[in-house]
Amino acid sequence: QWIFLNGEFVTKENAKISVYDHGFLYGDGVFEGIRVYSGNVFRLEEHIDRLYNSAKSILLDIPYTKDEMIGHVLETVRRNGYQDAYIRLVVSRGVGDLGLDPYKCKTPQIVIIVEPLALFPKHLYETGIEVVTVATRRNRSDVLSPKVKSLNYLNNVLVKIEAHLANVSEALILNDQGYVAEGSGDNVFIIKNGVIYTPPGYVGALEGITRQAIMEIAVDLGYTVKEEPFTRHDVYVADEVFLTGTAAEVISVIKVDGRTIGDGTPGPHTKRLLEEFRRRVVVEGVK
Ligand code: PLP
Repeated sequence: QWIFLNGEFVTKENAKISVYDHGFLYGDGVFEGIRVYSGNVFRLEEHIDRLYNSAKSILLDIPYTKDEMIGHVLETVRRNGYQDAYIRLVVSRGVGDLGLDPYKCKTPQIVIIVEPLALFPKHLYETGIEVVTVATRRNRSDVLSPKVKSLNYLNNVLVKIEAHLANVSEALILNDQGYVAEGSGDNVFIIKNGVIYTPPGYVGALEGITRQAIMEIAVDLGYTVKEEPFTRHDVYVADEVFLTGTAAEVISVIKVDGRTIGDGTPGPHTKRLLEEFRRRVVVEGVK
């Protein structure tokens, strides 16, 4: 396995960074998760745009042009030779001293890791998953925006811990007003009377690239898609609920806080969207 580390390819054993890196010391940095399907990198440009937007928001200058970064990602995928894989692209502020001051970090560190991934076991895509809502709240958009995919993922980690403590594999996080925002690392959709709803960005969700792809697919299939805030109650009484994400793809949710959704199996609309998503990811993308 070859890992891209600051312009060089090194083996996993040699892929090491300093303990003075501010990504490690302060979570000062940004990242992306990207997927390779049948040798195609899915929506790479969108991921690179989001990475550069995240970096701009925290005043982090990435020392490559977007085209150069795309080249490095594609080269890392090529060297590792996987047909289906997950790419983790990390940009940290770089090595500084123990103080917070980011201006002492001279050069950002850039890491690209490519490896096979299965977030949820395969059978869960057939059966659907159970989720709970948790006490952890999404941070407000007027502080560090949830749209910034930063290395500060403690909120999301706490969501995962709460899910684990409740013996389920994923959880929904609400914003400070009680509107449903998203999952720990995925976006949420509900379907009611054939209409598809997902929370708008301002509720506190990351503008997911899979979310965008699903909205496009749904419109192409003739569905009405609405970006509207909704509450836990709306989720409980929805006909179908599903999550989307680079790692999760599209996964049906069949129980929320003990309430069975629909008849407790993945619904027809979700299945249709997943099928079309799987078909498209193979044909879309960059070689
Ligand atoms: N929400 C959060 C907090 C995430 O970390 C992710 C993962 O990237 C998503 C949603 C889903 O976004 P995407 O579909 O771009 O992977």
